[in-house]
Amino acid sequence: MRVEVLGCHGGDVPNLRLPTFLINDRVLLEAGAVTSALPLQRQATIDHVLVSHAHLDHIIGVTFMVDNVQSAPGRSGPVTLASLVPVIDDLRAYCFNNRLWPDFTALPTPEAPALRLETLAEGEAIKFGGLTVMPVSVDHTVPAAGFVLSDGNAGFVFSGDTGPTTRLWQAARRVREARASIVETAFPNRLDRLARASGHLTPALLERELEKMPDGPVWIYHIKPSYYEETAEELSRLGRRVQILQQDSTYTI
Ligand SMILES: [Zn+2]
Ligand SMILES: [Zn+2]
Repeated sequence: MRVEVLGCHGGDVPNLRLPTFLINDRVLLEAGAVTSALPLQRQATIDHVLVSHAHLDHIIGVTFMVDNVQSAPGRSGPVTLASLVPVIDDLRAYCFNNRLWPDFTALPTPEAPALRLETLAEGEAIKFGGLTVMPVSVDHTVPAAGFVLSDGNAGFVFSGDTGPTTRLWQAARRVREARASIVETAFPNRLDRLARASGHLTPALLERELEKMPDGPVWIYHIKPSYYEETAEELSRLGRRVQILQQDSTYTI
């Protein structure tokens, strides 16, 4: 399984992109920076998008991607954007609502729209773009999912945005192929109160999550650029199992 890290940062500044991962060249996991990371031709090849929740840093790129590719040559169908029911409800109500952004589920025509929104059921594994995907609710400030993903040979668990959580790790431990974890850490330890209030992890909070996770490497994403060095230094004390994901790298699981 190949995971291309198009963006893995918890903020948007030049050269550091928002969370965006392309799995097996086919399924986009999070879409914060897809339109700034991929040329138009590659954007047009993406049919399947998973988002963990409706916060802008995870979805903003898909709004522009759908606009970009809606009439791209060779496209035969809509982009399918999937998540848990309350996340899709948020996207309908606050994003693709013909106010903040056009309702691409009815454009360019209602019969052949550019976007299809698909609701996933909590804890139920489905086939999606060649992967088996199980969404599990995590603990953030808004409805949010983590995902256990597998391509039949290998897989990983992705935390989305979350504070301390349990169900996701329990679900991941039951999936034999899940051999790695991509997990958020947003703030350094001194901002523990802010991390808890905003539903995020610090390195100290992450340390308590480690024993609940499946075995294998733990790859960190979503560090806030303002606190990158401090957070990275604290993460480095957690041992070699914990590594910070590198933007523009491809990981093979
Ligand atoms: Zn969030
Ligand atoms: Zn986020």
